[in-house]
Amino acid sequence: MQILHTVADLRRWSRSARCASGNTIGLVPTMGALHAGHASLIRAARSACTHVAASLFVNPTQFGPNEDFGRYPRAFEDDCALAASEGADVLFAPPVEELYPNGPDSAFVEIPALSDRLDGASRPGHFRGVATVVTKLLLAAEPDLAFFGQKDAAQVAVLRRLVTDLRLATEIVVCPIIRDADGLALSSRNAYLTPSERVQALTLSRAVRHVESLVAQGERRAETLIDAARQVFAAERAIRIDYIALVDWATLEPVAVAAPGSLFAVAAWVGKTRLIDNTILR
Ligand code: AMP
Repeated sequence: MQILHTVADLRRWSRSARCASGNTIGLVPTMGALHAGHASLIRAARSACTHVAASLFVNPTQFGPNEDFGRYPRAFEDDCALAASEGADVLFAPPVEELYPNGPDSAFVEIPALSDRLDGASRPGHFRGVATVVTKLLLAAEPDLAFFGQKDAAQVAVLRRLVTDLRLATEIVVCPIIRDADGLALSSRNAYLTPSERVQALTLSRAVRHVESLVAQGERRAETLIDAARQVFAAERAIRIDYIALVDWATLEPVAVAAPGSLFAVAAWVGKTRLIDNTILR
């Protein structure tokens, strides 16, 4: 596996891969501290594409001023080992100045229709940072396919809109949420949790599963589903709900009645750690 640090090197790699007809390039953007969720994306890319690049970049512009950019887990050596063992051909790990040569605010990409919905409402500027960095990565790697996790379902909506509206040539592939055996969605931020917070954090997946079971029993009303999830959280007083929402997955607008493909999503603070979980209703 090659480790590349500059946009020019990534672009050179991608263009030389493309020289042979039939080759396809897959990109897996990450912020590192890789876990089995990231590994599943690299594996999906490996099985769909002839050439696979994963990127490792803790993107400053998607963090708010009082968020965890400074202490976000960084594990470069372990990440290299995991990406290599899952079959990535390239690991792109640029320094901040490489992606933001004129500073973080010099140029950006925004999807105004979605920017203040769900996580965008509680993390102002977050989706602008995500859209900006992913645009830079897509322009550098020029992948046929880019792989993202359903774990960040609102981010997926933003990125789908991005490639549609900017008429980019990359197809977004969404991979299922990978969970620990007890249901907790894997996240690099789970490393922040104390043992007792780790137990409380299970409330998110419990609420999601509860809503899935109500839908399976025929319940469709958003109000009822959201109330039911709120009841699950009520049992765990140490958790602060950020949002519980039933939305259209494309527009992120609230829906009154669940339909196939609706996104049920939760975000909550467990101590100082903000976690998210969701399900796409069938
Ligand atoms: P991150 O490093 O947290 O920015 O995540 C990089 C990519 O991995 C994003 O597309 C995430 O949605 C995806 N991802 C994170 N956690 C999981 C998970 N538990 N299962 C599947 N994909 C995930």
